[in-house]
Amino acid sequence: MTAPATGLVWSAPGHYDHRGDKPCVLCGRPTPLRSHTREPAHKTCAEEWAADHPDSDRFVSDAPAGRGRRTHA
Ligand SMILES: [Zn+2]
Repeated sequence: MTAPATGLVWSAPGHYDHRGDKPCVLCGRPTPLRSHTREPAHKTCAEEWAADHPDSDRFVSDAPAGRGRRTHA
């Protein structure tokens, strides 16, 4: 069986850097997207990385707006 895909939610405007593209830290191709820690990374690349590193919080989804609900992986 394959592990379920980890779909990240990066809908917060902070994930998009309007100043331009930077090389993705994972695949090296340009991307305007940024992780929570400001690392340039495609969301799909981050999802793949997160799937390969389930114990890491390097790439995480946005917290749901308005509520204190937290998903416990
Ligand atoms: Zn990438």
